[in-house]
Amino acid sequence: LMGYVGFANFPNQVHRKSVRKGFHFTAMVVGESGLGKSTLINTLFNTKLYPKKEPLPPSADRPQTVAIESISADIEENGVRLRLTVVDTPGFGDFVNNDESWKPIVENIEARFDAYLEQENRVNRQKMVDNRVHACLYFIQPTGHALKQIDIEFMRRLHSKVNLIPIIAKADTMTDEEILLFKQRVLSDIEHHNIRIFKAPTYENEDEETLNENEEIASKIPFAVVGSDTEVDTPDGRKVRGRSYPWGVVEVDNEEHCDFVKLRQMLVRTYMEELREHTNDVLYENYRSEKLLGMGV
Ligand code: GDP
Ligand code: MG
Repeated sequence: LMGYVGFANFPNQVHRKSVRKGFHFTAMVVGESGLGKSTLINTLFNTKLYPKKEPLPPSADRPQTVAIESISADIEENGVRLRLTVVDTPGFGDFVNNDESWKPIVENIEARFDAYLEQENRVNRQKMVDNRVHACLYFIQPTGHALKQIDIEFMRRLHSKVNLIPIIAKADTMTDEEILLFKQRVLSDIEHHNIRIFKAPTYENEDEETLNENEEIASKIPFAVVGSDTEVDTPDGRKVRGRSYPWGVVEVDNEEHCDFVKLRQMLVRTYMEELREHTNDVLYENYRSEKLLGMGV
């Protein structure tokens, strides 16, 4: 189903709550250049937020810092509107010395917390705008080896500020067995370094179907994804979003081929509200109280 995102199929109560609150969602993408961030964003929200890229200027002319670019789009589905903002971070990991690549990203996330705090302190709080980052998709290069130093450093610096969702980029470049093995390595590295990634909460009174669905999503983390914003022809004559190879077609929306569908389900359907709540109740709240303590309040 090409034109389908999924947020209009929220469970009813969550849905009404989100619509009432204005239904803003901000996701950030981070990872080294060329890992498919822009492509995945286009695939995820089925909209060309990113026009086709112009060739990069010679490296000497490129900015020597991580840039922070924010793009918003209103997408509508079955009469439900979602204002989606994607924060891209081109330049991350691109420099000779990447020791502080995480820094401008932390600063950006904190600046968004500050903007929210400033609104909370106003007398008139009628028109609060929530531009806080609700989820950070961190792209891991599909090497098959352990996490790199830059991955570990970034996640350790960011895990107390944002909901981290690790992603294995370009999963079509690995076999199914390689992916399974790599996922285990990534997860054990994450555990070894005491990195907290977003953990979907489970509720006791859930029906079996929902429980199964939630468990299935959790079992796919880190999501191994394939992105494509073009349609290709399958050997059996279908048109699908995917990538063509001499040996066949990798279909983005086929759960047998990659975890894209599960990632989308987690973000815009099952856990959007939880991501927003955790951002507000835990991550922002911790930031706020530390800040007030620092000011001696
Ligand atoms: P970014 O620098 O992280 O934003 O990466 P882009 O989205 O610009 O993609 C870089 C290149 O990788 C482009 O040529 C894409 O067509 C290609 N690409 C994007 N996603 C995938 C994927 O899932 N698999 C493969 N094999 N290539 C991809
Ligand atoms: Mg890009």
